[in-house]
Amino acid sequence: MIGEPAALPLLQMALRVEQDIFVIRQRGREVAAVVGLEHQDQVRIATALSEVARDLLRTTGGADVSFHVDSGADGRFHLRADLAPVSPLPDDRYQPQSGAVSRLVDTLSVSTVEGVTVVRMSRRVPANAPAPTPERLAEFRTELGRTAPGSALDELTVQNGQLIGALDEVRSQRDELAVLNEELAETNRGVLALYNQLTEELEETNRGVVALYAELDEKSAQLRAASESKSRFLANVSHELRAPVTAIIGLGRLLTDSASDPLTEEQGRQVDLIRSSATDLLNLVNELLDLAKAESGRIEPELAEVDLRPVFGQLRGTLRAVATRPEVELVVEEPTGPALLRTDEVLLGQVLRNLLHNGLKFTERGEVRLRASQNGDRWQFEVSDTGPGIAPELHDRIFEEFYQIPGATRVGGTGLGLPYARRLVTLLGGTLGLTSAPGEGSTFTVSLPSGGA
Ligand code: ADP
Repeated sequence: MIGEPAALPLLQMALRVEQDIFVIRQRGREVAAVVGLEHQDQVRIATALSEVARDLLRTTGGADVSFHVDSGADGRFHLRADLAPVSPLPDDRYQPQSGAVSRLVDTLSVSTVEGVTVVRMSRRVPANAPAPTPERLAEFRTELGRTAPGSALDELTVQNGQLIGALDEVRSQRDELAVLNEELAETNRGVLALYNQLTEELEETNRGVVALYAELDEKSAQLRAASESKSRFLANVSHELRAPVTAIIGLGRLLTDSASDPLTEEQGRQVDLIRSSATDLLNLVNELLDLAKAESGRIEPELAEVDLRPVFGQLRGTLRAVATRPEVELVVEEPTGPALLRTDEVLLGQVLRNLLHNGLKFTERGEVRLRASQNGDRWQFEVSDTGPGIAPELHDRIFEEFYQIPGATRVGGTGLGLPYARRLVTLLGGTLGLTSAPGEGSTFTVSLPSGGA
């Protein structure tokens, strides 16, 4: 069987005189070539053999050398050379040569096989070499038997050639290494430049972002200041206007009083006109004042437990006076049981009155309806009407100050009611939304948290 120590060696030879060292070296290389070791490995094992042979010749006077092919524990084939000294080795701990030799082969050891001490070395056969079947081994033996060992001079020439080859290889490897190093340094420089460029760009971007944020902060501060001064202006102007307007209304009333001198019919008509215009103006001024107060945060909701039933009852009472059209019915769906929520009763009343008032103003026939329902932890108030409806693209605009839908039947108003209502609902912690389309009426929905803002 291949690999058994007892198997027939591939080649055997004797080491007795100095010249045999050259022969062993040469034959070793040939055996290595025959079993498929690569050129470098052939030189390595041949060098290791000649070094160990030289040592054994000096210390023991010679050895019997044999070559074998083993299957190793790693499942691969190994070329093994055994050198059995002709006399005992100097001592038990004999280590063949220095570590330099052991680096040339895969294993190097002193073993005792069947009572005979041998110096044994091996080198792995590459995986791509043909498997050494018994037939192939027989062929190897024949092949090796055909070639006769050359002279010491021949082997020296070969050895010189190998040395020159090895030197050339070392030189070309060194050159290659230098080129690789240069390429590496070049790449490093490139990477460093890229890194610097990226860092710079990043810093540039950062500076831009920081500047942008500063600008944004400044803009929003300006916006806040502008909005505050608008509210302050509205509040001041409205306040200043209220007194003279109230005076005009009062004086008008005095003029038409029965205790005053009678006016001509024309004068009476004109004074009535002055009084009704002044009343419109006072309404506008009051609404402006309300809105300015709500916007400047001067309205603080007073939250309390509110029962919706009396609130709804009161709304029905006050709005009956506004619902003058016989074709329009005002329906207030009063809750049947106690309907409690925590909110500001006055502000909620203002919002609902405002929405119902709008419904009655803009609806020519049909109904205006108020209903409330509790949904989880929220209350929903719906004010719906069968009026003209509002185009979807105007749903946001009608909540802007002074906006009134153009072309709608002029029914009076200021365009301040809805923005004020939305402001109040927000203060109460809720939302005011709208569902409407032209010809389909409108439904304004107030949604409030049951537990208060
Ligand atoms: P005002 O009612 O004083 O004009 P609002 O802010 O309350 O001001 O309403 C703004 C505009 O929205 C109204 O002028 C009207 O064009 C429209 N609008 C409000 N409520 C309704 C409604 N129920 N149906 C149709 N249009 C409405």
